[in-house]
Amino acid sequence: MAGTLYLVGTPIGNLGDLSPRALETLRSVDFIAAEDTRVTRKLMTHFDIRKPLVSYYEHNRVESAAVILPRLQAGESCALVSDAGMPAISDPGEDLVRLCAQEGIPVATVPGPCALVTALALSGLPTQRFTFEGFLSNSGKSRREHLASLKEERRTIVLYEAPHKLIRTLEDLLEVLGDRDIALCRELTKFHEEARRTTIAQALEYYQRERPRGEFVLVIRGAPANRTPRMSLEEALEVLDRFRRDGLPLKEASRLAAAETGHSKSNLYHAAVVRDRNA
Ligand code: SAM
Repeated sequence: MAGTLYLVGTPIGNLGDLSPRALETLRSVDFIAAEDTRVTRKLMTHFDIRKPLVSYYEHNRVESAAVILPRLQAGESCALVSDAGMPAISDPGEDLVRLCAQEGIPVATVPGPCALVTALALSGLPTQRFTFEGFLSNSGKSRREHLASLKEERRTIVLYEAPHKLIRTLEDLLEVLGDRDIALCRELTKFHEEARRTTIAQALEYYQRERPRGEFVLVIRGAPANRTPRMSLEEALEVLDRFRRDGLPLKEASRLAAAETGHSKSNLYHAAVVRDRNA
């Protein structure tokens, strides 16, 4: 019977965040596949974990998978860990999970900290709907295309960024998205943890004076709803009446008419109430 691949989340800064189940898993598997064996060795030394390590990172993932998969198929169990946080999230791992799924090898999760979720929670920006965009590409064309695709994005946007690229990224964000609320979250779970809740223009001004330090997660407010009505209020009320004639209650009819006409739901609702009252 095949062994199991365990996706083990590790701390993004504070070693106290390694969960008891993560520790137990790292101590019980046959071997650990690590993105950076030096980083993982430090973690293992700290927690007195003695297990063989296999390197699995972006540039050796094909060769390394060719070693890991047969071992799993032969019944050994493996814990996959990245430098920090959840493996497979802006980290190698997604290929290994896909290959295991294809081969019928069980994959189990031992979730741990994840920088994007931690920053989002800390940001003070809307969290109900968000889009995680990972790192912006460095190369001109795909970077421009990626940024352009975010221009009309209404959901909160989450990006990862390294300190030495922060200023260029803020400049590009300002140019493409315009000035918006942003929370720059850095050193999460560490002594100097910070969420700078400001605007993109103010952040740019600040970091042009103060050198950015530590890894960043940028949480950016989505684009404002485009509320330019596409027709007059009178015409929009006719659309609402059409939905009402179909038997919908006023609230639902207002919601659908708002989506179709560009008027706000509450304006339509109140305009219909006032009109009906005066009829
Ligand atoms: N797999 C990781 C996770 O679950 O969050 C993400 C790995 S990705 C290669 C590394 C990026 O995550 C960093 O460049 C930074 O944007 C973000 N990050 C990781 N740890 C962080 C921390 N303690 N504070 C702020 N950002 C962090």
